[in-house]
Amino acid sequence: MIQEDVNYYTEGVIRQNRRIVAKTITLIESSLPSHRELAQTIINRLIPLSGNAVRLGITGVPGVGKSTFIESLGVHLLEKGKHVAVLAVDPSSTRSGGSILADKTRMEKLSLGKNAFIRPSPSGGTLGGVAKKTREAMIVCEAAGFDVIIVETVGVGQSETTVDSMVDFFLVLMIAGAGDQLQGIKKGVLEIADAIIINKADGDNINKANMAKREYKNALHLLRPASPIWSPPVLTCSAIDMTGIEKIWNCVLEHREKFTETGELELKRTEQAVSWMWSLLEEGLKDRFYKNIKAKQILPQIIKKVEKGLLSPTMAADKLLLLDNT
Ligand code: GDP
Repeated sequence: MIQEDVNYYTEGVIRQNRRIVAKTITLIESSLPSHRELAQTIINRLIPLSGNAVRLGITGVPGVGKSTFIESLGVHLLEKGKHVAVLAVDPSSTRSGGSILADKTRMEKLSLGKNAFIRPSPSGGTLGGVAKKTREAMIVCEAAGFDVIIVETVGVGQSETTVDSMVDFFLVLMIAGAGDQLQGIKKGVLEIADAIIINKADGDNINKANMAKREYKNALHLLRPASPIWSPPVLTCSAIDMTGIEKIWNCVLEHREKFTETGELELKRTEQAVSWMWSLLEEGLKDRFYKNIKAKQILPQIIKKVEKGLLSPTMAADKLLLLDNT
């Protein structure tokens, strides 16, 4: 690893050079061992400069209006003088097809903003792998002075919980009249929401949106809030008409103020850092095991023995765990 390279990236990021910010994130996403080593050194240098942004997670099923909403909120924030970065966690994105999230073409106005930065989801890999890269991209963006980081994810599968574990505030976008209101909405998503937003509250849809708002309010009443100092509100907006956006942002700020005052924000971030470490450790251990030559050699025989009942699963696992790495 060449020191000059490290300086090139870190200084470029600190100078807020967007091209270098993008190149640094590309480096982070690379799986080449030499790139990974360089990327880790850069991240370590940048970590002390990170942590100052508002980290906002956004989820919702496809079609709910996530990208339109992010564009409206993003433009609103740019007008307030903020620097806005949009990242995405989309484990379904493939290497060839690209991501369906945080796509530049979907956020045309925002992507033209001088102080906006939009990055699609890292492609390929497991949810854990994609999330790791997004977390590191977040550090890079924060070190580059972005003060609001929006992390978008599709409302399917496990990715909401993963994004929730890297943000300060988690917004769940919904729409009214999509069949049975609560149908298909996993209870787990309501449990992690810091606010529920009913989007598309415009035109003929306003009444329906208000009805949905009441229904979600009732549904939330049945859940115990994750924090004693915050009851997640249900708000309506129209991402297209840009109505209700300011109220949503004020809600994020109110939450931030309360959580900062009571020390809950710091606690949340500390807990997130520790649980991130655990998930990296687990991933690393698994990775190390599967790369272990001896394990690779004897694994097929052991599986066969277990299948035939010649070896108990417990003994098989013990045998494999005792293999050393040499
Ligand atoms: P995503 O898949 O969640 O990112 O959703 P999109 O932002 O791509 O929006 C899906 C569709 O809903 C598009 O046709 C948008 O124009 C439309 N849409 C998004 N927000 C609103 C809104 O506030 N009101 C109305 N009427 N349509 C909207």
